[in-house]
Amino acid sequence: MSGRVELVELSDEQREVVATVRDFVEREVIPVADELEHADEFPEKIVEGMKELGLFGLTVPEEYGGAGLDLLTYALAGVELSRGWMSLSGILNTHFMAVYLLKKYGTDEQKQKWLPQMATGELRAALSMSEPGAGSDVQSIQCRAVRDSDEYVVTGTKMWVTNGLRAGLVVLLCKTDPEADPPYRGMSLLFVEKEPGANKFEGITIPPNIEKMGYHGVETTELVFEGHHVPAGNLLGSEGDGFRQVMDGIEVGRVNVSARAVGLATRAFEEAIRYAQERQAFGKPIAQHQMIQEKLADMGTKLEAARLMLLNAAMKKSAGERSDLEAGMAKYFTTEACHQIVTDALRVHGGYGYSAEYTVERLYRDAPFLLIGEGTSEIQKIVIARQLLERYKLQ
Ligand SMILES: Cc1cc2nc3c(=O)[nH]c(=O)nc-3n(C[C@H](O)[C@H](O)[C@H](O)COP(=O)(O)OP(=O)(O)OC[C@H]3O[C@@H](n4cnc5c(N)ncnc54)[C@H](O)[C@@H]3O)c2cc1C
Repeated sequence: MSGRVELVELSDEQREVVATVRDFVEREVIPVADELEHADEFPEKIVEGMKELGLFGLTVPEEYGGAGLDLLTYALAGVELSRGWMSLSGILNTHFMAVYLLKKYGTDEQKQKWLPQMATGELRAALSMSEPGAGSDVQSIQCRAVRDSDEYVVTGTKMWVTNGLRAGLVVLLCKTDPEADPPYRGMSLLFVEKEPGANKFEGITIPPNIEKMGYHGVETTELVFEGHHVPAGNLLGSEGDGFRQVMDGIEVGRVNVSARAVGLATRAFEEAIRYAQERQAFGKPIAQHQMIQEKLADMGTKLEAARLMLLNAAMKKSAGERSDLEAGMAKYFTTEACHQIVTDALRVHGGYGYSAEYTVERLYRDAPFLLIGEGTSEIQKIVIARQLLERYKLQ
């Protein structure tokens, strides 16, 4: 859609990033995404291209070899990538959250150690909070890190680790004090270094990838820690800081998921509006039937609202402000809107929407993940209501 009123005037640099990523997606991603997704194949060549474009270092400070750009630019790039294939944005997201946490809470030594390699994409990062028995209820995780002189010994099973196999660095949420009351005071973040691609590495086992409905191409794994040793210098901040740090990081993760939702919904809308003008029924293009027009109007309106909410949340967080309300609202609204838009796009395609030959089938399988990752819609509503009640508290 062009000619829209923007919430923000983008800088020349931001426009250039968006145009470059859009061009890359048109040339390198769209022609192959359906095939790679159906084969559940890791997009090696595309990721090499993303490295060359500097996407892994987009938000890494220039002094560490990155582009030093802000969250808004990252979100706009995420929209473009997801318009091509949502999994590409998933490959970047946990990496980006690790960069964010390192920039904000890391020591100079930690930054120097990891950020230059992360800027090039040579070192890629995963972020691991969830466990088989604890997802939304983050404070009930069981993974334990016990201090032993200048090391931590880690034991426990993590679940749903996106990029879990190929990452060389895992930002691990664990308990350093399981007796702490409230529990979040006993939680810490450790940077775990491992060999990318290895199923076994010094007390870490990675079982075969979890099979998923969609979100193919990027792996999601379990990580089993059995007495893995981590240098004490890999602790982020102090013991007990982990929950607060990860909740801060998850706000940027929520902006990323909103960006994915806007990108995915944009593509679904584009596919539907084109198909509606091509497909004939009852002697005219289906776009001429009012009930199809009603769907297109609904989709276009929700998409525009979703885009504005994404920009609002990204700008607020970029400005360094607390944004759990805006990020929560954006995550909730954009992902639910995306799910509805993709469902309508499938309906517009009729039976062909159910065929693997049409892109909309892939979008339809990708969209539900967005309702879950980085906190479910139910959890977003809890966060939103809590903030609203705080803001409008009766005196
Ligand atoms: C493909 C994929 C990739 C993922 N990647 C990662 C990753 O890289 N790193 C990572 O750490 N995690 C990752 N996750 C995990 C994801 O963050 C969790 O699945 C999510 O937080 C939900 O947790 P859960 O699956 O344990 O569901 P549960 O927490 O068991 O929730 C089940 C249902 O109960 C609802 N519910 C729970 N508590 C409440 C409540 N208080 N009030 C109302 N309803 C509630 C939920 O909304 C949901 O509908 C990934 C998940 C998937 C599917």
